[in-house]
Amino acid sequence: MTGRALIAGAGLGGLTAALCLRRAGWDVEVLERAPAIGEVGAGIQISPNAVKVLRALGLEEGLRAIAVEPAHFHGMDWKSGRRLYRTPIAPGFEERFGAGYFHVHRADLHALLADALPHNCIRTGVAVTAARTEGAEAVLETDSGPRRADVAIGADGIHSAVRASLFGPENPRFTGNIAFRFTVDPARLQHALPRDAMNLLGPAGHVVLYYLRGGALLNVVAVHETRSWEEESWSTPASREEVAAAFPGWAPLVQDLIAASEERFKWSLNDRDPLERWSAGRITLLGDAAHPMLPFLAQGAAMAIEDGIVLANCLAAAGRDEAEAALSRYEALRKPRTSRVQLGARARAASMHLRSPWARLRRNLGYAWGNLVARGRTKHAGEWIYAHDPVAEGKAPPTPPPGEGEAARGAA
Ligand SMILES: Cc1cc2nc3c(=O)[nH]c(=O)nc-3n(C[C@H](O)[C@H](O)[C@H](O)COP(=O)(O)OP(=O)(O)OC[C@H]3O[C@@H](n4cnc5c(N)ncnc54)[C@H](O)[C@@H]3O)c2cc1C
Repeated sequence: MTGRALIAGAGLGGLTAALCLRRAGWDVEVLERAPAIGEVGAGIQISPNAVKVLRALGLEEGLRAIAVEPAHFHGMDWKSGRRLYRTPIAPGFEERFGAGYFHVHRADLHALLADALPHNCIRTGVAVTAARTEGAEAVLETDSGPRRADVAIGADGIHSAVRASLFGPENPRFTGNIAFRFTVDPARLQHALPRDAMNLLGPAGHVVLYYLRGGALLNVVAVHETRSWEEESWSTPASREEVAAAFPGWAPLVQDLIAASEERFKWSLNDRDPLERWSAGRITLLGDAAHPMLPFLAQGAAMAIEDGIVLANCLAAAGRDEAEAALSRYEALRKPRTSRVQLGARARAASMHLRSPWARLRRNLGYAWGNLVARGRTKHAGEWIYAHDPVAEGKAPPTPPPGEGEAARGAA
């Protein structure tokens, strides 16, 4: 079927869904609360499973033009900076997983998606306040009146108003982790670094760094376990001293990065248990609104991007007046995978943040053994996620149980 769709939220998930739905012949309107569309000044990792969706949308060349494709990912000891393992990424990922692995500035990726949509498709400064199904229509209440369509999608992030309206208010869970994020001009560093991605694994925290914009910027995400809850916002500033105080005794490279940082922000890391339902009537959820997760497998946006194409495929495969069934089918197809990734990201904190020196020694010996056997080709933690190709998922209409099709045809 085709029709008209409303999307709450012009984040990476909402914009991808809009592009996928338009490709399937839908008329789409995206409602964004912020007065102007845009993303924060930080980096994001885009793994092969998500790149396949961008390729299907004709955006792979555009992605390559704005992204850095690292050759390796290095795991390093938090204190000595010694390399524990090395995972080759390019050129091998393309062959093994069907697409490359990229690092990109969020604002650049957001602009790539937004520019592929007609300008009149996105309405900024419109906040969605509630959602309901009325007969054959999905209705989004907004601060400037109700909007109606055949289906509506809540892509409005972890604090989704659409989710709260459908299933009741419920706060996400503070996971005990705070992420400090900042970018650094590599020319200001005392350390010479390979043009690769790095992850220093420490007690009660880790520090990930990778290059953006042709190597002109280093993106740093420094995660630190704490008991105190902080307000969740990408724009809460953090002082250099606050970051340094969270990483005492860490390798000179980490101190160098903190000293060279210009503007630092902090973000409390929240997630949810997998939701029981995402859809009600003609309305469904997508991205962080449906399955917020810890960033420890770097998959939150990738899952939102996958959601968009599967949702569009399910709607395209549905017959007239089957919108509700299509949304239920989308949810049934997506939930097992996103739940597994959500829980996998939670579990990964345990091996990345080991407090006991003995546990770290045992883990590091495992890496050393792996290096010996695999000759420096340690597997990437997310490899089980990358081979998946969501591009055709949901395209085929569901096959009716045996006999049912015959009966239906007979009745008609
Ligand atoms: C430190 C950190 C690092 C990460 N790194 C990665 C990574 O490397 N790779 C990866 O794949 N993921 C990563 N993620 C996860 C990723 O950022 C999120 O999963 C992703 O941005 C979710 O996209 P979304 O479109 O679902 O939601 P959001 O990006 O939250 O977008 C929601 C949009 O909806 C708008 N909105 C909110 N409420 C309303 C309303 N009521 N009405 C209208 N509009 C509204 C917001 O303004 C926003 O534009 C990371 C997350 C963190 C915290």
